[in-house]
Amino acid sequence: MNFPRNSLLTLLLLAPLGVPLIASEKDTVTKQDFGTADGQPVTLYTLTNAHGMSVSAMNYGATVVKLLVPDRSGKNDDIVLGFDDLAGYLGEKGGPYFGATIGRYGNRIAKGQFSLDGHSYRLATNDGPNALHGGKKGFDKCVWKAEIVSTSPPSVLFSRISPDGEEGYPGAMKVSVKLTVTEANQMKFYYTATTDKPTVVNLTHHTYFNLGGAGSGTILDELLTLKADAYTPVDSTLIPTGEIKKVEGTPMDFRKPTAIGDRIQQVGGKPVGYDHNFVLYDAGKGVREIATVQAPKTGRIMTVLSDQPGVQFYSGNFLDGTLTGKKGNVYQQYDALCLEPQHFPDSPNEPKFPSVVLEPGATYHSTIIYAFSVAK
Ligand code: BGC
Repeated sequence: MNFPRNSLLTLLLLAPLGVPLIASEKDTVTKQDFGTADGQPVTLYTLTNAHGMSVSAMNYGATVVKLLVPDRSGKNDDIVLGFDDLAGYLGEKGGPYFGATIGRYGNRIAKGQFSLDGHSYRLATNDGPNALHGGKKGFDKCVWKAEIVSTSPPSVLFSRISPDGEEGYPGAMKVSVKLTVTEANQMKFYYTATTDKPTVVNLTHHTYFNLGGAGSGTILDELLTLKADAYTPVDSTLIPTGEIKKVEGTPMDFRKPTAIGDRIQQVGGKPVGYDHNFVLYDAGKGVREIATVQAPKTGRIMTVLSDQPGVQFYSGNFLDGTLTGKKGNVYQQYDALCLEPQHFPDSPNEPKFPSVVLEPGATYHSTIIYAFSVAK
């Protein structure tokens, strides 16, 4: 049966079948040509659940381009930063990883070097002296394969093979990211990776969220809770010093809901703001709630769940008004936040941090969920 959605006819026909007389949407996945990159077609997939929440993601960078989520009055807004078309995401000025899948190693590796099993590896450096987010052409800048694996729940599987030596990393790595929009208004990512030589891996997700709506101003009034009583302080190039420091008595203490702007000036940094890895409770105990963001104006609540040991909280410090995104909105400092569940930065060089080594024969798994609801 293929009835026009929400039509009176649908309601009249379904009523005798015992379907409630409330117009509801169906789960769907639709495809749209989105241009070409590296000579390969790029497709935009839109995954919509029965409540009308939808995620649009493309196979360039396995990137979230649009996310429609209802506010407390039921009005959907796009709550993620990005560009209207593929051109915005390409090239040197392609934006700071808006919505992208990050790999092979999310965050920084000091001086782009590490040793494993007695071999030293030299990575592409792309952030001052350091390697950031997989290098010059990380997973965010590659065209992935994509297939719709289910329409109910809506789910798309992105996959690629990262060749041995890509950006300096050892081992050919098969990697996949399954994106699912669940009935519980979750945007869920499930990652897997295997390798043919010992290597390091740290995959994460880099959407810039603004629960007030993308382009609606800053996130400084949004209340953040982080399930972390420690963080990893960094040097001037944002590499952890190795210390695990208690958040108590510092502007890093988000154990109770706190407005992001309340103490941001005390954080310091150049530019000023949060760009830190937090050490989460209950590492190794599977997927658990790690963070919550609440927007007072719209009532939107985002709960982040993951099985990862850390989360990078980045308050959009480097946004500086030089990028014009969707609908002509100019993105200014603090216009969005990223919560990137991950292993700690520079783990390959910090034996005290949880291991990021992947051996042949083993499978890396991780889960990141952004769940949406509204305050009553
Ligand atoms: C990093 C920031 C970086 C940003 C790139 C974040 O994950 O922590 O330092 O500037 O990504 O946009």
